[in-house]
Amino acid sequence: MIKVRNLTKKYGNHLAVNNISFDIKPGKIYGLLGPNGAGKSTTMNILTGCLAATSGEVKVDGHDIFDEPLEAKRHIGYLPEQPPVYGEMTPREYLMFVAEAKGVPFEKSLRHVKEVMQLTQIYDVRNRLIRNLSKGYRQRVGIAQAMIGEPDVIILDEPTVGLDPAQIIEIRNLIRKLGRLKTVIISSHILAEISAVCDHVIIISHGNIVANDTLENLEASASRNNALTLKIKGDKARAEKLISSVPGVASAEYSENGGVVSALVIAEEGADIREAVFNAFASAKMPLLDMHTNETTLEDIFLGLAYGSDERNAYIAEPEEEEEEIGEEKPKAKEEDDYKPLFSASDDEEDDE
Ligand code: ADP
Ligand code: MG
Repeated sequence: MIKVRNLTKKYGNHLAVNNISFDIKPGKIYGLLGPNGAGKSTTMNILTGCLAATSGEVKVDGHDIFDEPLEAKRHIGYLPEQPPVYGEMTPREYLMFVAEAKGVPFEKSLRHVKEVMQLTQIYDVRNRLIRNLSKGYRQRVGIAQAMIGEPDVIILDEPTVGLDPAQIIEIRNLIRKLGRLKTVIISSHILAEISAVCDHVIIISHGNIVANDTLENLEASASRNNALTLKIKGDKARAEKLISSVPGVASAEYSENGGVVSALVIAEEGADIREAVFNAFASAKMPLLDMHTNETTLEDIFLGLAYGSDERNAYIAEPEEEEEEIGEEKPKAKEEDDYKPLFSASDDEEDDE
């Protein structure tokens, strides 16, 4: 469906996307997962023909996005990170406008827009002004917009950012529903977001793809990898040196507090490093205060792959999204009363309110 080969994007000297290649196959939900600044939006903007690449190739259903943009873009519906705002339109007017822009014939667009509004559950608010809708509804209008013109692939950039928990659940359900009809690509910097809805995960870090696999395989490999948590009395640099000398160590993270070093050591698949770790510290006469095994999770894998240790701490400490827009699900009746829709209600019977 989409083939990406050796895609690179530089902003001036800054390498935002570094020679990435991947395939998007039909009928699945893909997650592009990575920290802020990883290059997700840049990648999506290039896939959808909104941004030129520095080098590399993107083919959509065999059509090059740069050489045959019209043919290629016909297959794609896109909700960018900052969706265009048409606050003074109603969802219905806006979607009719999008349908016209995408070349859907007018006779067909009435039915099509209605179907899309029903699918995305915005039909009840179709005649309210977009600016009076809650963020959850506005996001659904954005997803509806991406579905106009019946594209095969729907690309949504961070579709749940800034939503409250109830709205997030609704959008996730909608994405799952879309996934049964279309190929879907969503991006997020939150693992839980991706693991909740995606079949396939592409992890991107500093413009590089660091993992590209099914969620199932990633989870399986996470649980095969055993991690050791250690507490060692003494100097961090010495502890690091000792652990890195142990055969079978895949990676390790360290922190130090009051003369005690804590380490999370991930062993290579199938390796049991406990005895070698014990012996290394014993012969160095560094007291090993605690050692226990714990299963690594997908979270550990993601954090290890996608973040440096500073970024990792920032990620773990990330504050909750602030609350917003309490109780504004209801329209401001007065403005609605004064408002005259551009399209008459005559095309669908149940329109009267
Ligand atoms: P993400 O969506 O994963 O957060 P982006 O694709 O937005 O990441 O950004 C990738 C990198 O490119 C970041 O370091 C960002 O600061 C930089 N970047 C993005 N857009 C621009 C731009 N228009 N000009 C210069 N640098 C940019
Ligand atoms: Mg982004």
